[in-house]
Amino acid sequence: MIAAPYVGRFAPTPSGPLHFGSLIAALASYLDAKANSGQWLVRMEDIDEPRCMKHADEMILDTLALHGLTWDGDVVYQSRRHQYYQRQLNALLTQHRAYYCNCTRAMIRQHGGVYPGTCRDENRPAEGAAVRIELVNPITSFTDRVLGQVEITDPHALEDTVLKRRDGLFSYNLVVVLDDIDQGVTDIIRGSDLLTTTATHLSLYTMLGKAPPRYGHIPVASVAEGRKLSKQNHAAALNMQTPVRNLCEALAFLNLPLPSSISPRCVDDVLQWATDNWHINKIPQKMEIIVAAEESTYHT
Ligand code: GLU
Repeated sequence: MIAAPYVGRFAPTPSGPLHFGSLIAALASYLDAKANSGQWLVRMEDIDEPRCMKHADEMILDTLALHGLTWDGDVVYQSRRHQYYQRQLNALLTQHRAYYCNCTRAMIRQHGGVYPGTCRDENRPAEGAAVRIELVNPITSFTDRVLGQVEITDPHALEDTVLKRRDGLFSYNLVVVLDDIDQGVTDIIRGSDLLTTTATHLSLYTMLGKAPPRYGHIPVASVAEGRKLSKQNHAAALNMQTPVRNLCEALAFLNLPLPSSISPRCVDDVLQWATDNWHINKIPQKMEIIVAAEESTYHT
């Protein structure tokens, strides 16, 4: 058990309704928070508005509620926090810890797709430029609560990541870190598809002089090797008629199957049993688990 206070969160991108893969992330983060007497927050990561679907936020919240995954406090929407992000970005620029960059994607491709820091000391004008962090001492290894010691070899973890794009959109890497700091998040349980970006996030925490949260990366549900269940590969929305079954399938995925001697009457029965029996060490130390479509509630 982690010493209190614990603040966890689920941070979906409202690009479509919840599917089995996102239920797993929601459930794992919820159970870890509850088993540690913590708070569990929900944040809508709708910063990349073109990727978002109208009313997906409401669908996601309804689905969480139907599964008994009740969040603490108000749901935070990134789309309403632009001023906050800009203030933090301005501070980094003023402190010369971020800089303007007008390199195009084609130019970066010529360097193997990894940004080589071309504009670092060039004092580029702000007009039409992206903003990048000047990453000092990037972090490439960390201890993960599920996977243990992790070494990131992807060279993207070393590059001066974009904080604000040329088209004016704040980057996921910036806002996720700013929000987790602002919301006092101490523990992040999320899919292993975000493992490499965690190195970047840890570097940003250091740049911002903040203590990072603990991370635990759970396997993602995939339809085939390297193909995680997602809107792109047409993962269907969860069956809203079978919330107990959906939770039981998600628990089995997390290697915490409900014993056959227990017949839950409602979602709260399942969640209570799972909270009482939760142990993060039971989660498979894998990047992905292939789920057979016919065994689950979704169809590809
Ligand atoms: N919004 C991200 C997603 O839906 C998750 C971000 C996170 O958990 O840090 O994939």
